[in-house]
This record gives sequence, C-alpha cells and structure tokens, in this order.
Amino acid sequence: MSFADLGLSDELLRAVTESGYDQPTPIQKQAIPSVLMGKDLIGIAQTGTGKTAAFVLPMIDILGEGRSRARMPRSLILEPTRELAAQVAENFDKYGKYHKLSMALLIGGVQMGDQVKALEKGVDVLIATPGRLMDLFQRGKILLTGCDLLVIDEADRMLDMGFIPDIEEICTKLPKSRQTLLFSATMPPPIKKLADKFLNSPKSIEV
Ligand code: AMP
Repeated sequence: MSFADLGLSDELLRAVTESGYDQPTPIQKQAIPSVLMGKDLIGIAQTGTGKTAAFVLPMIDILGEGRSRARMPRSLILEPTRELAAQVAENFDKYGKYHKLSMALLIGGVQMGDQVKALEKGVDVLIATPGRLMDLFQRGKILLTGCDLLVIDEADRMLDMGFIPDIEEICTKLPKSRQTLLFSATMPPPIKKLADKFLNSPKSIEV
C-alpha cells in the first residue's frame, strides 16, 4: 500500500514525496483512512513509528483550506511538553505547505502576547500543552466551542506529568460531537478510562 492509496489529497502527496517518504509506516496505513472517514481512534504506538504524520496528514486534509473565524479554532492537538508541541508544529508546516491553514503554538515559557494576537486573528489549529491552554482559557482568550477535532498525544506521558484532570476539563469545553484521536505508548487503566469517557466507538490500532 502506498501513500496514494490512503485517500490523501494531491497537495499532501506532493508534500509527503518532498519529505522523502516512499512508503507509509504501519500506523499511517491503518490510521489515515480511518481518520479521513471521521472516526475516533486509539493509536497505541511509540515515538519513531511515524505516528505524528499518522494524525497530522489526515488533519490537514480534513481542515482543508483555512476557514477559521476570530477566536474560534477548529482543531486542537494536546502535547505533554513544549518540545513535542514544537515538533508537531514543524510537522504541520512541512506537510501543510500547500494548504493555507493557520496555526498557533500555545506553550509555556514564552510570553502570552504573541499567542493572544494569533488567537485574535483566528487559527485553524491549536497545538498546545495543557497548562498554557488552561491559562489562556481561564483568561477568556480562547473559545473552544468550534474545536471539533481533538488529538491527545502521548497520553501516558500526560498521565505521568499529572495532566489528566486538565485534559478532562478541556474535553468538557469542546463540542460533544467531535472527532477525537488518542495516542499512547501504553494503555494504563487511567488512560483506558479517559478513552472510554471521551471517545466515541473508537477504532484501536496497535503497532
Ligand atoms: P514520529 O514517530 O512521528 O516521531 O516520527 C519519527 C520519524 O519518522 C520522523 O523523523 C518522521 O519524519 C519520520 N517519518 C514519518 N513517516 C515516515 C515515512 N512514511 N517514511 C519515512 N520516514 C517517516
């Protein structure tokens, strides 16, 4: 199975070829068609398996051309650390070079001013760590009611870092009718519970 068989747009196939990838990895083969169909997904996969592209590529095609309205982001990717969030943002730039999507990186350790300005202009994709996202939310700088595509990445690391209560709270601010993708290297009981509570008939993939 090649990238062309997965249902991605020509623009994305071009960006993938330019990234030097010949073949989709096993998680990409299994996840991409299902995410494009709008299904919820649990991906049990380590870093290094190509899991970032497994969600970033179909997200770019789902979001298509930018249509964001001020302060109404359309999708949210939660990452446990600033470094991971920044890496995912780089992936979005690389694969999304032929799409006109706007993105805001909401991480701690940097001033909020530029993040608030980006939010006011309107963004399609938020890539955030839970702490900074909650902080901006509590200051009234973000509306999450238009966010109907959610990715919870590295869920087991989120658990180790004590972020599960924040994630639960964030999930309740998003529309109930949404698509949710959860990735984790392992499935400890609290993550299974989180998935049971916030995902809707998810497809499970383990690589
Ligand atoms: P990840 O598991 O998302 O951290 O990705 C690990 C590395 O694999 C990254 O450096 C990606 O650029 C690379 N990668 C992702 N998909 C592919 C692919 N289909 N073929 C070759 N390399 C890939």
